Amino acid sequence: MTTIEFFGGLGVIGSSKIVISQGNSRVQLDMGLDIPSGEDLMAAPVGLDSRRGRELADLLRIGAAPRVPGLYDPRWLPADVASEELLTDAPGLHALFISHAHLDHMGLVGFVRPSVPVYAMAQTVELLRALQLSGEPVLGAEPAWRVISPGVPVTVGDITVEALPVDHDVQGACGFLVTTPDGRIAFTGDLRFHGSEAQLSRDFAAAVAGVDVLITEGTTLSWEPLPAPVTEADAAQRFRAALDEASGLVLVALYPRNTLRAARFAEAAREAGRTLVWPGRVAALFARLGCGDVVTWDASRPQASDHLEAIARAEADGFRFSTVSLDAVRAEPGRYVVMPDPHDLPSLLDLPLVPGDMLLHSNGQPLGDFDTWWRPFTAWLGQLGVELRSAGSGGHASADDLHAMVERIAPRVVFPIHTFSPRRLQVPSGVRRVIAEYGVKYPLAEL
Ligand SMILES: [Zn+2]
Repeated sequence: MTTIEFFGGLGVIGSSKIVISQGNSRVQLDMGLDIPSGEDLMAAPVGLDSRRGRELADLLRIGAAPRVPGLYDPRWLPADVASEELLTDAPGLHALFISHAHLDHMGLVGFVRPSVPVYAMAQTVELLRALQLSGEPVLGAEPAWRVISPGVPVTVGDITVEALPVDHDVQGACGFLVTTPDGRIAFTGDLRFHGSEAQLSRDFAAAVAGVDVLITEGTTLSWEPLPAPVTEADAAQRFRAALDEASGLVLVALYPRNTLRAARFAEAAREAGRTLVWPGRVAALFARLGCGDVVTWDASRPQASDHLEAIARAEADGFRFSTVSLDAVRAEPGRYVVMPDPHDLPSLLDLPLVPGDMLLHSNGQPLGDFDTWWRPFTAWLGQLGVELRSAGSGGHASADDLHAMVERIAPRVVFPIHTFSPRRLQVPSGVRRVIAEYGVKYPLAEL
């Protein structure tokens, strides 16, 4: 008998964790950090930094990590949290599949038992390894990653898992098709239909059409009124328009994991006669990922130690950078675009900014007004007279696109997760919508 259980992503955006069992075989899809539905007790400036070895224990204590039996490596479970239920390795988990390299889908992966193989697409594994080497390791211990390739299913007992690439705002994102003796289950991961690789998402929908169960993200259903998506092409156009308009220095806030957009913005800057200068850690990441000519600061500009260490380590590993001095940027600010370090706001004072200059916010950090860094960030820009403009594009399908996808796939049952408002997913006749409950076993044959 095949069952489906949900240990996250219920009434919240992120933290999806889906366990599918068949006989003695058990697989899990995604292992995100839990996003609390109430107050986020670990949000900056709190963090887990000073609690080496107790990170998982503390998350379990405050209810911010799921209690999945047998999932965790016992070495992360000190006596105060080590319940029998958590320590058991029967029935055991036989494989974990990660849809993409966003923390709300993989942030807890470092606490999983080392005997559990952890699969992701090659680009995701490369990105996470490069992040680790440039100073952003996963919490816990680096898992032994295994690559799952589209078209090459992984078999776990009676369960087969296939990765299907989708378009999202990070490279290497996929959904999964899980085939069991009782039927087929599709999981979208996070996906969108307004990005430059939207065809991947359309191909996903076509490949899983007619499945028994569709588990879909529903991020954009969370907000009223439902926002119309800014396309990836619109975001790039907004950036180019700002470069045309500006005469002085332009600042940009990009999310480093979105390497495709970062490369496009660097190219757009070049076409406008400008050089995009990255902070050290971001430059180290891009160099390790083989992103062409990567430009960062030379040694004359003071940077936080994590940036200097990331560059030194990358250079020791044979990677090379082009460098720019602060004097060069001060001499000709109109020939540069700079991504500031979002956590070193006083470093903005080094730059030749004048009132009326612009910062293009393109889904970088701080992420938005829910981020504790947002207020100091906007206060600094305000003090310096720098105008904040948006040049971003979301990673999640619009409500209209989600509804069209469900209609196209026409599953027997749909579970909307990864949204504040799963009840806003409307389903066509003949499709049953189930709002999942935490830890409840749903038998596939009885849905
Ligand atoms: Zn995501």
